[in-house]
Amino acid sequence: MIYLDNAATTRTDPEVAAEMLPFFSENYGNPSGIYGIAQKSRAAVTAAREKTAHVIGCRSDEIYFTSCGSEADNWALKAAFEAYSEKGKHIITTKIEHPAILNTCEYLERERGAEITRLDVDEDGVVDLRELEAAIRPDTILISVMTANNEIGTIEPIREIGEIARRRGVLFHTDAVQAFGQIPMNVDELNIDMLSASAHKFNGPKGAGFLYIRKGVGIRSFLHGGAQEHNRRAGTENVPGIVGLGAAAKKAEETLVRKMEKETRLRDYLIRRIREEVPNVKLNGPDPADAKGGERLPNNVNFSFEFVEGESLLIMLDMRQICASSGSACSSGSLSPSHVLKAIGLSDSLAHGALRLTLSAETTAEELDTTVEAIREIVERLRGMSPKYEAYRNGTLESET
Ligand code: PLP
Repeated sequence: MIYLDNAATTRTDPEVAAEMLPFFSENYGNPSGIYGIAQKSRAAVTAAREKTAHVIGCRSDEIYFTSCGSEADNWALKAAFEAYSEKGKHIITTKIEHPAILNTCEYLERERGAEITRLDVDEDGVVDLRELEAAIRPDTILISVMTANNEIGTIEPIREIGEIARRRGVLFHTDAVQAFGQIPMNVDELNIDMLSASAHKFNGPKGAGFLYIRKGVGIRSFLHGGAQEHNRRAGTENVPGIVGLGAAAKKAEETLVRKMEKETRLRDYLIRRIREEVPNVKLNGPDPADAKGGERLPNNVNFSFEFVEGESLLIMLDMRQICASSGSACSSGSLSPSHVLKAIGLSDSLAHGALRLTLSAETTAEELDTTVEAIREIVERLRGMSPKYEAYRNGTLESET
């Protein structure tokens, strides 16, 4: 199998899994207990909190463990909205956020009277800072902009957005689910007040995430009950999951530079080969070869193959044991074109022809060679059956690429 869907989820690192194992059936104590195995659990949760905090340069009591990235996103938005509703009800976000943000905003708008500004992005997926600043109103309580996009890998100008938010007295949340453990992040340097992340995206287990909340940000409890997570998120801790998250965060921090270098090299190799060997393609998201282009996640490649359905390409890649995605995992299965690809200006047909390939530190050049070869053959076969491609060949239809 060739696994190129690391933005959807990653393989839990075997060393991480090994660290988790004792917390299932040996040290299974509840961290709130006072006896020995409970203390072991408590110490393990504390250690995981410290490891996680170290990665983003915050205090360990600013890390709140959750069950996933979606929970962290929901918490940040809903609780900030409640806590700051006396100041106003206006939230600024973008059109290319993950559904965990977009649908939470829609809920706040529909059910709670929030006013949401959804910023456009340019053709690379980058937010315009002047537009963002101009959107701030006296009643703006929160700006939520993702650090990096899950479909096209665009890295947003987070530091500058944080600066604007700080200067204008507005809270700044970033969904860093695709960025944490993939690129360096420091919450002080980047002026971040709240940050969401999810363990299964950086070789940790599924079912564990966290929300960073800067000291002094007055948002409320998300789950009411016991005193866990400094009284802000009740529920017996998912000790194995939290241990896995901490172990994966530490490993991600230690291997970050090497991993980024390797992935960047392989990403650029894959982009170059697809461009050279498959005609009528369009790279979606910033072009690493273009100095003017924005920044792109080291592991993300997203191409539209003209005259081809991304879903058919995916199925035929799957028959060759190559795992990829036609958009974000959450939107695949629905037939409407990706909201991200539409926001960067793609036509419906180019958006339907998109394929996302996301690498890991374990990806090899040989795997990419096999993948390019497969894509080349499959695209040729699919185009051979496409009336649009025939029209293009006859000169009655223009290419969009
Ligand atoms: N935010 C982004 C940018 C994501 O890519 C994802 C998952 O794909 C999420 C949030 C949701 O994370 P989780 O699957 O942990 O709920």
